[in-house]
Amino acid sequence: KLVSREFKKENSVIPIGEHLKIGAKKVVIFAGPCAIENEDLLVEIGEEVKFAGASVLRGGAYKPRTSPYAFQGMGLEGLKILSRVSKKLNMPTVTEVMDVRDVGTVAQYADILQIGARNMQNFTLLKEVGLTRKPILLKRGLANTVKELLMSAEYIMAEGNHNVILCERGIRTFEDATRNTFDVSAIPVVKQLSHLPIIADPSHAAGKWNLVAPLSCAAVAAGADGLIIEAHTKPEEALSDGAQSLLPEKLTTLIQNLEKIALAI
Ligand code: PEP
Ligand code: MN
Repeated sequence: KLVSREFKKENSVIPIGEHLKIGAKKVVIFAGPCAIENEDLLVEIGEEVKFAGASVLRGGAYKPRTSPYAFQGMGLEGLKILSRVSKKLNMPTVTEVMDVRDVGTVAQYADILQIGARNMQNFTLLKEVGLTRKPILLKRGLANTVKELLMSAEYIMAEGNHNVILCERGIRTFEDATRNTFDVSAIPVVKQLSHLPIIADPSHAAGKWNLVAPLSCAAVAAGADGLIIEAHTKPEEALSDGAQSLLPEKLTTLIQNLEKIALAI
């Protein structure tokens, strides 16, 4: 299989734009709000996370919310905001694509296309992003095994797009102290089975901002190639996932500590 270590021995390095690489030595930080809410706020948060040491700006325009009455994201207007802020701050971006019909548009406005946990086995969507040559951030499903995650990556690669970055974001277990259970072992398991880079999303695993730092440290110690972290300047006013969003100053301290861990391993 294309995804396997047997097929390719060396680690794959995924280029993002001209200057950034995922899966090379450096731990890459993706950060930003859960959802794009308005342009001024995205600039404000973007400037803060860049200053903190993040390299990629995250922000959802199409949000997979549990309730149909919850904020669904700004859609196309959000994508346009994301692309303007990206140029202004000179930061590449990642945003989720939920629908096959939007793949072309999202690819036009963002640098990395995210396949969310809930769509990990939306095979039609996987094939469609496989036809692009964009880097794909593929998140592990809420109730999927590592092998299933790798088979979903295979769907993308089989269409010719080998630029896949995997993401462990926590899985459903009986434990309810956290939003999901962060499966730290998925990181070394993926490293053994596959040459693809894997990052971790401690925010959606934790569900609470004060658990984000310890989970981030664990992920980097386990060999993660990067982290995707939700950050907000006014978490209590966030339209989505405020409870798990870090204030910029907490992100700054965290990134400094992560650099020490990365040096130690
Ligand atoms: C997100 O990144 O905001 C998100 C919805 O993530 P997940 O698909 O992992 O739940
Ligand atoms: Mn979120």
